[in-house]
Amino acid sequence: MARSEFYGRGCGVCGGVITGAMSAHHIDADQKDPGAMRSLKEERVRDELEKCIPLCHNHHFQVHAALSNGCATWPLEDIIAKLKREHRAWVLEQAAELTKETL
Ligand SMILES: [Zn+2]
Repeated sequence: MARSEFYGRGCGVCGGVITGAMSAHHIDADQKDPGAMRSLKEERVRDELEKCIPLCHNHHFQVHAALSNGCATWPLEDIIAKLKREHRAWVLEQAAELTKETL
């Protein structure tokens, strides 16, 4: 999968596609090939992206923060699910604020 197609799938947490602010999170850190993402060989990059999920920079940072703050033993799916719940709650909170302002 080409980079543009990979990142075009949107952040695994919020679904956002933020041009220039997307990153690839390795599902299994042990499978990471250091330097592959900077490779000029398209095939090496494609192989590396197969091991990753796209995240916006904000949520990529939050996944790593969760991993270093007590969630290190959690499956990645559970961390993503937790962040999705928090993101949804934040969106609903912002929407409620906007509704108040327009009344
Ligand atoms: Zn995101």
